[in-house]
Amino acid sequence: MKIFCIGRNYTDHIEELSNESPAEPVIFLKPETAILNESQGFYIPDFSENIQYEVELLVKINRMGKYIQPKFAYKYYNQIGLGIDFTARDLQQSLKEKGLPWEKSKAFDGSALVGKKWIDVKEFEDLQKIKFSLLKNGQKVQQGHSAQMIWKINELIAEISKFFTLKVGDIIFTGTPAGVGKLERGDKLEGFIEEISIFKVDIK
Ligand code: ZN
Repeated sequence: MKIFCIGRNYTDHIEELSNESPAEPVIFLKPETAILNESQGFYIPDFSENIQYEVELLVKINRMGKYIQPKFAYKYYNQIGLGIDFTARDLQQSLKEKGLPWEKSKAFDGSALVGKKWIDVKEFEDLQKIKFSLLKNGQKVQQGHSAQMIWKINELIAEISKFFTLKVGDIIFTGTPAGVGKLERGDKLEGFIEEISIFKVDIK
């Protein structure tokens, strides 16, 4: 399986990192070895002084596809989840400045927390109205709403599938809203879709 991640999909997060708004979605991948199960805890790696959380809605692909049109994209997923795109921001910054690929800062082991709980799309009245949030040590640090996404889920699937064949089990991280920040050992994160707790993870 593979993990697709979308960068710069929320205007308020683009502004907080002083990035330019892209004309098309920014897509990058993480390998299967990036997946972190919440029970393991996230260990801050020694190659970064600034590991940051990015909470994101996830989409799980349930059908193989290529060149999918936006109007048919809904047929390719039936579950929505929540995860964290752990980012070594200091490393990413230096790679960006040099115009180099981001993998070392974004795709390292354990960098993709995938919450155990998934919610069937039928449970949502409207996929454009999904609220999600992240608590750090009990305080809300990020909140997002799927309506704020620049590219919606179906548009992302269309764009990704122009370049990459989607396969059953692939996961899309759909981008993070504002409020990203640095993690310290001992922090505790909990992610919610609406009022439902989706994951809890300790930073070690
Ligand atoms: Zn992200």
